[in-house]
Amino acid sequence: MEMKKLIDESNLYIMNTYKRFPIVLRKGRGMKVWSTDGKEYLDFVGGVAVNILGHCHPKVVIAIQKQAQRLLHVSNYYHIGPQIRLAKLLVQHTFADKVFFCNSGAEANEAAIKLARKYSKENVNPDRFEIITAENSFHGRTLAALTATGQEKFQKGFEPLVPGFKHVPFNDVDAIGQAITMNTCAIMLEPVQGEGGVKIPDPDYLKEVRKICDENSLLLILDEVQTGMGRTGKFFAYEHFGITPDIMTIAKGLGGGVPIGAMLATDKVALAFQPGTHASTFGGNPLVCAAAVTTIETLLEDGFILDQCNRMSEYMKERLINLREKFPHLIADIRGLGLLIGMELTRECEPLVKACLEMGVLVNCAAGNVLRFIPPLIVQKKDIDHLINVLGKALEGLK
Ligand code: PLP
Repeated sequence: MEMKKLIDESNLYIMNTYKRFPIVLRKGRGMKVWSTDGKEYLDFVGGVAVNILGHCHPKVVIAIQKQAQRLLHVSNYYHIGPQIRLAKLLVQHTFADKVFFCNSGAEANEAAIKLARKYSKENVNPDRFEIITAENSFHGRTLAALTATGQEKFQKGFEPLVPGFKHVPFNDVDAIGQAITMNTCAIMLEPVQGEGGVKIPDPDYLKEVRKICDENSLLLILDEVQTGMGRTGKFFAYEHFGITPDIMTIAKGLGGGVPIGAMLATDKVALAFQPGTHASTFGGNPLVCAAAVTTIETLLEDGFILDQCNRMSEYMKERLINLREKFPHLIADIRGLGLLIGMELTRECEPLVKACLEMGVLVNCAAGNVLRFIPPLIVQKKDIDHLINVLGKALEGLK
């Protein structure tokens, strides 16, 4: 079917929750995707930090094919092989002792919020339920995750929100200290704010937050839905900051393109979940777990991809800084950790995103004026050179 007709049908049949660009994507390989009219795009969005190994990585595709022939789905009433393998891998490579599987980032955060409340009520003080999160944060669209999210624009119209959340400025330790009450049970943060516009905290921020948590018997929940799975150049972003959380949520890159989320915790905290306290029909489904096992094994195999991520991060920031020197009135800042890189503009970035799309490059906008680059971690110099070339032309057009 011709692209225009498909888009008409998309508008006719699908709820209008996304502002979509007028292309239909049908195929992807590595860094590239193709639309139904045959146009090729270089993808610096990567499914919003999902396609960490690029599109249709052959190892992930084969793992899915093999698992699809063996077993697609069974209930969590029974033990599931790929789920066990995935949990073991995550535990071996993180601070965590136990894993709960779900299907998305928002669900992982719901699970984290429930676990933090239950653990604290049962083990610290029955009056504890409140969670402190950061202004400008993003934790998902389900009601509790939305309430945790420190951005009113996402909450508007959905009131009454879930009780028990307080927002404080990000990267401000004193503000956390002042917000703690008898009712506080946890502090929940993204190590780097992604949707909020690629905001990186001071090097000691998380260390100090960890200290506050320890001194007040509070749990530290890190939302690594966007920063996890190698995105920042380490397997998980907390490794940059010399701390470990009590609970961590992950999703996006975990399945290499299939929908899966997980909530990880230490044994001490995880004990608060017992049979019947939390569940998900599809959580830890054999098909998605098989994909995630292969994704992790490929990501961590001889450290090559993480090295590549760090090398390309340096190269890309350097090239973007050069671009800033050419367009100082349009580019306010370049910042990033690993391949979560932001280019803050002095104006809205929508026209630039559209211009890049027309020139065959997909880029994404966060917080209105920050171009956010979250490409597959397999991105190469030649891809970055092409991006810079196209961005230069697009910026030229804005002058
Ligand atoms: N947490 C963070 C930090 C995110 O960036 C996102 C999505 O962008 C979410 C949670 C929500 O994840 P999902 O869309 O899979 O529910």
